[in-house]
Order: sequence, then structure tokens, then C-alpha cells
Amino acid sequence: LSELLEHEQDLPSVTTDGHEMPLMVNTGLAVDAVTLLKSRISGVGLYRTEVPFMIAQRFPGEQEQTRLYREQLEGFAPLPVVMRTLDIGGDKDLPYFPIDEANPFLGWRGMRVTLDHPEVLIVQLRAMLKASRGLDNLHVLLPMITNVAEVDEALGLLERAIVELGEEGGTVARPRVGAMIEVPATLYQLDALAKRVDFFSVGSNDLTQYLLAVDRNNPRVSDLYDPLHPALLTALDKLSRDARRLERPISLCGELAGDPAGALLLMGMGFAGLSMNAPSLPKVRAAIRRVALGDARTLLAEVMEQDTPEEVRRHLQSRMADWQ
Ligand code: PEP
Ligand code: MG
Repeated sequence: LSELLEHEQDLPSVTTDGHEMPLMVNTGLAVDAVTLLKSRISGVGLYRTEVPFMIAQRFPGEQEQTRLYREQLEGFAPLPVVMRTLDIGGDKDLPYFPIDEANPFLGWRGMRVTLDHPEVLIVQLRAMLKASRGLDNLHVLLPMITNVAEVDEALGLLERAIVELGEEGGTVARPRVGAMIEVPATLYQLDALAKRVDFFSVGSNDLTQYLLAVDRNNPRVSDLYDPLHPALLTALDKLSRDARRLERPISLCGELAGDPAGALLLMGMGFAGLSMNAPSLPKVRAAIRRVALGDARTLLAEVMEQDTPEEVRRHLQSRMADWQ
């Protein structure tokens, strides 16, 4: 079977009735774009900039960051690369910037840290903008957004970086900017967010953790951590509908996108893209190529009738077996 899937890696991710579901990859470390591009992908849906920061001895300087980002942007051009600003805190600590808190996942994380340290964010934004010169494939993604004021502040800093670089000589293009939807509050602020950003990307790993109040890394409650919880599926369905109404593309970059059954449900909901770790690509592509869009929609409708995560899972298993 895996040979069969390998063989399909350069085939488009389309359903039997011709609906295309763009598949993207999540990256972090210096990636081998050449290898990844052997598989037909639509871009990088999530570049986790904190990864190179985590293996460094100190905050990488502007030049070093520019080099790192250029490698990503150039490696995948002309395909879009979604670069997320530093998402530290929670379980991701930098050895040279310790954060000690009783409730790190509810504390100083992602955008909250970088807005409190604009000198860190501005260097990062400047490096991204410089790295994107002449390429036009940079998308900037803001993590852990809870309030629209955070987006406004981040956009203000981006503007400052663009003006500064212009004054230093040589213009930079304004990138598209997106918000991560991973804090439940943003589910109810999509209209306000859509006035400010160009696209949305759902972080289902954190959205699951926060919607279900289950620490994503605590083995004691790992049974309760389930992105197939009916509440989560309802939330995702609402997000997709709202984003379409607001005419903002919405994709998903959490682990759920790399699960073939999850991917079909997201396609049924109308998600515009799925971003996953590279090893998940072949099985997700295969699942999409074996169904019609209507099948995915029917699957979604059936699953939405289930009351528990176990029922959802059982239902998915039996349907997925039909499509092997
Ligand atoms: C997520 O929360 O789903 C996500 C993609 O980001 P991370 O796993 O890096 O928090
Ligand atoms: Mg997250």
C-alpha cells in the first residue's frame, strides 16, 4: 500500500469529481525543499519560526533570521510560505529566555510575549520582509490571538518595519497577514478579525486543548483530548461557514489535517487548505483521491449526528474502511 501511495505523490489532490483540496506542509527546521517539492504541494501552510530559535544559544539576530527565512521563501517560491511569528511559551521554552509560570498554556504565550517585547517582534518582521524581497510569497501568521487589539498592535509594528526598511533604501512588499484561530474567543470574533486580516489558519491542537479544557501534553487526561469531539467539529464547521461568508480563506494546520478521516471532514466543511507534517501527505492525498466531494459532505452530515467522540470515531472507521 505504501508503495502505491508513494506512486501517487505527484498526482493532484483532487476528489473523483474534480474538487481540488490544496495540501501544504508544516516546516520548522532548515527544510529540504527539494525533497518536499517532489511531492505535489500547494505551499508551506505553517513555518514554525520558534523551532530555529529553540535550538539557538541566544536570540538569532536580524541577519541570521533573514538568512533562515530566505532559505524557506526561496526554496518554495513561487508557492506561498506562511511564516508564523515567534510562538514561544506554553510548552515551548527558549533556554536563553526562561518563562516560569504555574499555568503556562494560559499564560505568557505567542503574541502575548512578542507584543510585550516589540523589539523582538520588529526584528523578526524586518527579517521576514527583507527575506521576501523579489519573491512575493511571504504570508505572516499571528499566533495565540485572543483580542483584535493584538492584531492591530502587530499590524502597527509590521507597518513600522515596512516604513523603516523603505527609509533605509529598497522597498519591501506588504505581505498578506493572517490570524491563528486557536483560542475559543476568536470563534466569536471572526467578523472583527476579518476587517483586519487576509486569511485565517486554525490551530486545532490548541483549539482542542482550550475548547475541551484538556492540557494537550498531560497523559492523565489524554483520553479526553480529542479533536473529533462533537463540540470541536461543530466549532470547525462554524468557522468554515463564517470565513466563507466573510470571504477570507481558512485553512487548518493542526494534527487533525494530517488524519485522513479528519481531512475528509474538513473538506466536507469547505476548508480551503490543509497543512500537515510531510509524512502525512501520502495518506491524506490518497483518502481525498478516493472520494467525491459529496461523499465527504455526507460523511460530515452523518458524523454531526453523533453525540460522543467514540461514536464519531466508530462511524469514521466504518466509512473509511469502505473507501480503502
Ligand atoms: C496548533 O495549535 O494546532 C498549531 C498548529 O500550532 P502549534 O502546534 O505549534 O501550537
Ligand atoms: Mg498552537
